[in-house]
Amino acid sequence: MSELKKYQMYINGLWVDAEGGKTFESMNPSTGESWALIPEASANDVDCAVKAAHKAFTSGPWSTMLPTERGELLHRVGEILVKHSEALGEVESIDTGKLLKETRWQASYISKYYKYYAGLADKVQGATLPIDKPNMFAMTIREPLGVVAAIVPWNSQLFLTALKVAPALATGNTVVLKASEHASAPMLEFAKIFEEAGVPPGVVNIVTGFGDPCGKALSSHPLIDRISFTGGGETARQIIHNAASNFAEVSTELGGKSPMIIFEDANIDNAINGILLSIFSASGQSCVAGSRLLIHEKIYDEVLQRVAKRVAEIRIGDPFDDDSQMGPLATRAQVANIENSVAKSIEMGGRLVCGGRRPPQFDNDSLYYEPTIIECPDMTIEVAHKEMFGPVVSVLKFRDEQEAIEIANDTNYGLASGVFTTDIGRGIRMSQAIRAGIVWVNTYRAVSPMAPFGGFKHSGHGRESGLEAVYDYTREKTVWINTSVEPIDDPFRMQ
Ligand code: NAD
Repeated sequence: MSELKKYQMYINGLWVDAEGGKTFESMNPSTGESWALIPEASANDVDCAVKAAHKAFTSGPWSTMLPTERGELLHRVGEILVKHSEALGEVESIDTGKLLKETRWQASYISKYYKYYAGLADKVQGATLPIDKPNMFAMTIREPLGVVAAIVPWNSQLFLTALKVAPALATGNTVVLKASEHASAPMLEFAKIFEEAGVPPGVVNIVTGFGDPCGKALSSHPLIDRISFTGGGETARQIIHNAASNFAEVSTELGGKSPMIIFEDANIDNAINGILLSIFSASGQSCVAGSRLLIHEKIYDEVLQRVAKRVAEIRIGDPFDDDSQMGPLATRAQVANIENSVAKSIEMGGRLVCGGRRPPQFDNDSLYYEPTIIECPDMTIEVAHKEMFGPVVSVLKFRDEQEAIEIANDTNYGLASGVFTTDIGRGIRMSQAIRAGIVWVNTYRAVSPMAPFGGFKHSGHGRESGLEAVYDYTREKTVWINTSVEPIDDPFRMQ
């Protein structure tokens, strides 16, 4: 085995080891081998990071920097990101097994988020209020919240981080970011971009480690004003509980079981591409994965057959090979979960159409899993209602629009959805009826810094991206000014 690459955390503008030099190994899912040593932050390490962020917020250069200057710095972060997108993508692919063509594109695309919020940095303003009292002037001032804890999962970390860090910094907050223990290296590489851009020490701090103690210490720290969390529902519950002790604001972006609905009038060629894109890109390890495929009964057999044919042609392979179309899963636990759920779903009455196993051409120790289709008679089958976070799609049949809506909404989740139809009225009716934060009509996975992103129900609350995010990282202060030259009235007379 080659020597492990050793990483350090980024706290207060310095590269530091964890307390006591504690580390853990990070694995390359396409080989199953450890490749990097990551600092394992203790509660004390987290405390140092939060205190550095608090100091930068209250008394560092960040606290007096003009919004326009903050915008210029963020713009520089965006420029540097593009320059390093290839290198960042490579590290992310090693650490997560995601295809290099996806990670390098994503690393470059997220520069747009930093530039979008850079442009908004000096456009966040308060208001004067048409108040109902004579001789009184009232206004609101929009101020940053303080120290933001950003906690992210392993998949698409650079992208998910941009949704939090860009608006938080644009509006004058400071940040402590906790990377996922499953893929910390890309985030530590990413810290170098802030350093190169000249972001002052303490403004962005990146800690690495496990949920407990690192994430727990961060989410329960009394100097944290806002927690922006992306990850699983169970973790969100713990974070909300931790935050409650300090009344920190919390937003959550959680899992999904998103329906992909194909109507009988759809352009079938487009729909099939949409289906493959929705569930098999990133090996299905995506919060918005279209993991429930709903097909109208009239076209059910044709669509299922054509999807299965295309799935059989998917090239599974090395994330660094441009010809690969699907890489491995990120963790062994994830492979085991999927294997259990697929077996259980078949026992429950699901019919395996294809996949359902580790591809025989790979080493048994690798984390590859075949793209899998399971026909489900109804939503009681495990793969039809449980988030798989892998390349497994459950297929259900529907008779009409009403039944499609009922099946689509028959879930605790509500993150995303896809509708394929050539009837514009139907597209609009479905967009109104589906209880999810995103509806993609005749497309899937489109994201943009300008478009809000977030879920309904157990998929979380709060929205990221879009103009509104700047309000999310600020709060209003109301200022009342008495303009009268007269003495203040008798305090016991009501007016
Ligand atoms: P996870 O919830 O296990 O971990 C997410 C982060 O929380 C990690 O950094 C982890 O260390 C940290 N954490 C764990 N316990 C903690 C605690 N007690 N206090 C504070 N932090 C703690 O999620 P995961 O398995 O890494 O990611 C997969 C999940 O994320 C899926 O459910 C997926 O749908 C979801 N996800 C959602 C979105 C979205 O935008 N809605 C995007 C990507 C992933």
